[in-house]
Amino acid sequence: MTANATLTANPTDNIFDQAVLRLDRAFQHSEIDEEAVLKLKYPKAVLEVSIPVRRDDGSLSVFTGYRVRHDDTRGPTKGGIRYHPGVTLSEVKALAFWMTFKCAVVGIPYGGGKGGIVVNPKELSLLELERLSRGFIEQIADFIGPETDVPAPDMYTNAMIMGWMMDEYSKIERRRVPSVITGKPIPLGGSLGRDDATGRGAYYCIKELEQRRKWNPHDIRVAVQGFGNAGQHFARLMHADGYRIVAVSDSRGGIFREEGFDIPSLIYAKNEMRELQAVYCNGSVCETVDAEKITNEELLELDVDILAPAALEDQISTQNADAIKAPVIVEVANGPVTFDADDILRETDKLVIPDILANAGGVTVSYFEWLQNRAGEYWAEEEVQTRLQKIISREFRSIMDLKEEREIDMRTAAYAHALTRIGKAIEAQGTSRYFKSNGH
Ligand code: NAD
Repeated sequence: MTANATLTANPTDNIFDQAVLRLDRAFQHSEIDEEAVLKLKYPKAVLEVSIPVRRDDGSLSVFTGYRVRHDDTRGPTKGGIRYHPGVTLSEVKALAFWMTFKCAVVGIPYGGGKGGIVVNPKELSLLELERLSRGFIEQIADFIGPETDVPAPDMYTNAMIMGWMMDEYSKIERRRVPSVITGKPIPLGGSLGRDDATGRGAYYCIKELEQRRKWNPHDIRVAVQGFGNAGQHFARLMHADGYRIVAVSDSRGGIFREEGFDIPSLIYAKNEMRELQAVYCNGSVCETVDAEKITNEELLELDVDILAPAALEDQISTQNADAIKAPVIVEVANGPVTFDADDILRETDKLVIPDILANAGGVTVSYFEWLQNRAGEYWAEEEVQTRLQKIISREFRSIMDLKEEREIDMRTAAYAHALTRIGKAIEAQGTSRYFKSNGH
């Protein structure tokens, strides 16, 4: 089989195929051997398991779970475990592929992995959820480990679940192994600064852009789609710097106010009153402020300076890419811009700070958690933040330089930057060019 003959991924794997398309584009701008690209088109290992769970009423349910290790040339594979009824193997493979690139973009010594269970966690009691989580670890224990594959939380999994999983793995190993999983509760070996790391990483990207574009934060209007973990922390940090957050939304719709919102008040309303309200709070007393109600579609098309999609994938597609006015889009969410929409945004001269860099703060601080667990030490929150900023700023600058030098969009530059790192590691093990030149 030649490298050329296989530069197309398995045609049956649609989501995985889409992921691989970005690899082909980046390959044209990296100086690595074609064999490295060929290798990256196949996950290293795929595991499918069934997990029998005794329900609270005494009956038995069996769930399907997956764990995929995409590439481990640069280090153990790393990536979350999601609980969702729509989980498919192709999706898990695509997500593992993205993790390989995300870890390489920020230069942390990991490859990409991902896992998932086909389940609607809202239909399980807490005890059933614990049995399912422990059962999954029992099935995949030989596949994961601090030096092979290190899971973390993802959609509908959280710190408590990570704690159960770490405990189960430790029981199987008959020793305490906190570094087998990240995103744990702080008292069980989690890292300070993990909760806001994703929003913070995106914020550090904007700080770099601020310097380049000589922005005065007070003049810059920002819209944030999605007001969960990542969106709230991003908005909070931007607001604290003087940026004007003029629009925010959640799954039920959004609010707009030209003068900008007091973000701590909105966070209080959303988290304490479970509602995104245009309010100004003093302690626990909140007063309504003037604001316009907008839909999520309208939010995306607002005339603002920065748009931060921080909710879900596929929010900007060929349907609405033409209508996007914000000159800067920072992808706090994973995959908010579709592959085809990228072309339209490039043609209309929008700067898209790609997800694999913009939300890499999360996996970077997960790496810090793993380092602390292995060293048996704990870092202060300031240390976590300083180290994170150093990494995000360094990589942002390298990617921007590559973008400008090659006159390409920032996503392609980020993939090319990551591909060069992964490719060099693959090449260091020898490619056919090396073997042929040595007479084999
Ligand atoms: P979350 O569940 O805490 O928050 C998601 C928010 O999006 C909620 O406010 C929800 O109401 C809102 N939302 C849902 N559907 C929406 C819609 N149609 N329009 C507008 N808002 C909608 O999730 P999160 O952890 O903040 O993750 C958000 C995104 O960031 C995801 O794409 C996730 O993969 C990505 N991400 C998160 C992390 C992390 O550490 N949390 C790390 C990397 C990437």
